[in-house]
This record gives sequence, C-alpha cells and structure tokens, in this order.
Amino acid sequence: MYDLIIIGGGPAGLTAGIYALRYGLSTLLIEKDVIAGQIAGTDIVENYPGFISIKGPELMEKFTEHATSMGVKIENAIVSSISTDKYKKIINTDNGILESKAVIISTGADPKKLDVPGESEFIGKGVSYCATCDAPFYKEKTVIVVGGGESAATDALILSNIAKKVYIIHRRDSLRASKILQERISQKNNIEIIWNTVIEKIIGKNRVTNVLLKNIETKSNIEMPIDGVFIYIGITPNTDFIEVEKNKYGFIITKPNLETSISGIYAAGDCRDTLIWQVVTAVADGAIAAVSVREALMNM
Ligand code: NAP
Repeated sequence: MYDLIIIGGGPAGLTAGIYALRYGLSTLLIEKDVIAGQIAGTDIVENYPGFISIKGPELMEKFTEHATSMGVKIENAIVSSISTDKYKKIINTDNGILESKAVIISTGADPKKLDVPGESEFIGKGVSYCATCDAPFYKEKTVIVVGGGESAATDALILSNIAKKVYIIHRRDSLRASKILQERISQKNNIEIIWNTVIEKIIGKNRVTNVLLKNIETKSNIEMPIDGVFIYIGITPNTDFIEVEKNKYGFIITKPNLETSISGIYAAGDCRDTLIWQVVTAVADGAIAAVSVREALMNM
C-alpha cells in the first residue's frame, strides 16, 4: 500500500509528487496520457515566473523531468472510481486495483464544447480546440475563433501568424482576455472581432465549409464561408469518476488544506473549485495538497 496516490500528471500532480518524495512518502502518480495537462497543448506560457516565455510542452517536460529525477513513479492507467475502507483508499483502474493511505486528485480539465449541430461531426475536419496542434493546417486560410477569454485571445494570435484571416466570434461586446493580449490583437491587421454573435451551426460535407452565425442583439442570421473553427469557451473538470462534493460545474470543493468532502482525499489544480486555473496556481495547489497529506499521515 502506498502512502499517497496522485491521479493526474499535470503541473499540480507532478508538484505534489515532488513535495511528497521530499517528505519521504511512498508515492505513485497515475496518468492516462503520455504527456499530461492542458499546458502540453499550449503554445507559449508567459506568466510562469522564472520563464519570460516558454513553450507549453517544454514546461511540461521540465516538470516531468524534475518529478521523475526526484523518484516520482509514474504509471499509465485510467482511474474509474475510488472507494474508501476505513483509512484505506481503493483506486480502481483499467490496470488493476491500487491502494493508498491518501489520494490527491489532479485530473485537470478539458475544453468545453459549444454543443451546436456539426461540432462533433467535424472535429478534426475543420473543428479544433487547439491552435498549437492544428494551426499549421490553416496556412493562408480563413478561420474563426470562438470565445473572448485568455485562451481564445492567445490562440487567435497564434492563428493570425499562419492563417490569412482570423475572425473572433464573441457573444458579448468586450473581451475578458488580459489587456496585453487585447492590445496585441488590436495591432494585428488580419484579426477581426465580430461582437454579440454566436455560432448556431457548423456546416460542411467532408469538412467544414460554412458557419451559421446569429447576432444576439438583432437576432439576424448570416451564413459565412470558413475553413476552420477553433473553440475556446472555457473548461470542464475531469471529475466524473469521483463522488466528492462538487460545485454545479463539477469542480471539486475543497477545504483550505485542499482536502475534499472525503477524509484523506485531496484535490489540486484545474479540477478544483478555485478563482483562476493557471499553471502557477496548479503548482501551488500541488504543494499544499502534498503538505496536507504529510500532516494527516503523521497524525494517523
Ligand atoms: P474563460 O476565461 O472561461 O473564457 C471563456 C470565454 O468563452 C468567455 O469569453 C465566455 O464569454 C465565452 N463563452 C463561454 N461559453 C460560451 C458559449 N456557450 N458560447 C459562446 N461563448 C462562450 O476560458 P479560457 O479562456 O479557456 O480560460 C480558462 C482559464 O484558463 C482562465 O482562468 C484563464 O485565465 C486561464 N488561461 C490561462 C492562460 C495562461 O496562463 N497563459 C492561457 C489560457 C487560459 P463571456 O466572456 O461572455 O463569459
């Protein structure tokens, strides 16, 4: 039986592993992907202290290398459920059953879907959630970015360096993205923002050819020819497998020490109900959760 099992190998989970190893806790980290975390699909990170500008995948590689060099053991598996038996946590995975005294859930979050006709049908055929991954396919093409947050703004800028024209479709009349990104967008000749507008339908045959837009003020519809649709309307936490207290969006509710509603189960990073979902807050969560586990185990 391990002292600690960490589920999810993004910035929060890897940091928890580093701290747990430093405290001498026998620790296993379970991860479903080869490289974990939304940051692995992020082009550039410019707000993680110590790195003025670093590629997302490179930052993840550094985190992973740091954790494994400390001795964090990483196993590839998918967790389906967790149950408790007195002080023991039983973790059911597609690779068998594992046991630990404590668990940290750091399973992160995935991009939200628009839920409009054509979206699922054309994923990989003109619909994307990752400009870093798919922008090169849109050289000299015309694309739409949906959303007004940090992700939409960041990826509109990435696309503007490759595509001929980028339209940002936003449901309101102002962006929620940071001022620095808004300024960069305003300096780009090939980015145009279409305000107060939503996508009602994504249209195509073998791949996307058009979108049906609706102006939510005038209620008028317009069909627009387009080569690609990049969707950035927020994130959904990966928390379905665990029955702890969550908010209405599925983010796990924690105490100040990051313990969930089940004693001995902690949550860290993007899967948690918190104010912002950033690398810097995820790593801080990982550290706090590991320290809390250590304190709990000392008192067991
Ligand atoms: P976000 O900040 O929640 O923004 C989502 C955007 O999508 C908002 O503008 C929202 O509109 C819009 N939206 C939501 N649902 C919609 C729908 N059904 N139809 C149309 N538009 C919809 O999400 P995010 O940009 O993915 O960012 C998530 C978190 O990650 C944030 O905390 C962000 O700061 C962080 N982030 C950080 C970095 C970085 O550190 N470098 C990069 C990317 C993201 P409204 O504005 O009207 O609500």
